[in-house]
Amino acid sequence: MIPPRFEYHAATSVMEAVGVLGQHKDAKILAGGHSILPAMKLRLAQPATLVDIGRIKELSRIIADANGTTIGAMTTHAMIAASNDIRQRLPALSKAAELIGDQQVRNRGTIGGSIAHADPAADYPAVLLALGAEMHAIQITGSRTIRASDFFVDLMTTALKSNELLVDVRIPALAPRSGSAYVKFPQPASRFALVGVCACVTLDDKGVCAKASIGITGACASARRATATESALLGKKLDAAIIQAAAAQAASGMDCLSDIHASAEYRAHLVTVMTARAIQAAVARVM
Ligand SMILES: Cc1cc2nc3c(=O)[nH]c(=O)nc-3n(C[C@H](O)[C@H](O)[C@H](O)COP(=O)(O)OP(=O)(O)OC[C@H]3O[C@@H](n4cnc5c(N)ncnc54)[C@H](O)[C@@H]3O)c2cc1C
Repeated sequence: MIPPRFEYHAATSVMEAVGVLGQHKDAKILAGGHSILPAMKLRLAQPATLVDIGRIKELSRIIADANGTTIGAMTTHAMIAASNDIRQRLPALSKAAELIGDQQVRNRGTIGGSIAHADPAADYPAVLLALGAEMHAIQITGSRTIRASDFFVDLMTTALKSNELLVDVRIPALAPRSGSAYVKFPQPASRFALVGVCACVTLDDKGVCAKASIGITGACASARRATATESALLGKKLDAAIIQAAAAQAASGMDCLSDIHASAEYRAHLVTVMTARAIQAAVARVM
């Protein structure tokens, strides 16, 4: 299928890109093109102008420092999966990137494109919620930081404004004695998450859970925190029975999606099973 006609603008700097976004009301960013181009061919999106940000080198990098890791919006899933820094510091994010689609999708698709698109079955939102990420967005008049908990608003809807460019994602360093893990039950054809869960736990020196954050994708219209499960873990030694009991509450209050791939009941059950696995894997990684 052929997309409708559009103007094409290849930006060479961030300010040039936001300048075009600001001038053209109906302009959209083109990153890896793996979501927007199919949507245009199906006439689900009809932007008058596409602003290609693929030539802006500063958007395609991973910077790790003592306080955290910054990932440029144009960094591909393949670059994230191949990064030693990310594998060592943020194994949950590394695994999420490695599990996205197939090699071709990982070579072209970007973290910025994935989270700006906000597909309910995308992998990164669960990880970014659990790890307390912040998104840095810029427009012609200034920039702002948006916490992951405020960023994912609804089905294919984020807090980004139409004239804003997502520049990078910042993930704080994990506290000492923390472990994180991402597990997913993939839809067998696309590999998108029927349910994906990221757990991050911090234990004190007696092995008691001092902090727990759990992000869930695929189950609802947008990624959610499993707050009841997080509360049930706090102050406990995380043995198998405690983890199972806490994970059993993971879908409470969630309005799970129902579609041709899975019923709401099936997704809710998967949420509890995958949450238990993610917590177990995170606890096993505590160093
Ligand atoms: C066959 C297939 C399988 C897939 N499997 C998975 C999977 O298992 N898990 C998963 O999570 N995803 C999966 N995806 C989606 C894939 O990860 C896409 O790469 C991603 O959703 C979009 O990234 P992109 O860089 O291609 O963005 P694009 O398609 O270029 O853009 C997507 C949207 O985001 C906007 N946008 C892009 N970058 C920015 C920015 N910096 N600032 C503001 N707005 C921006 C665009 O305007 C557009 O609206 C799959 C896709 C395909 C085609």
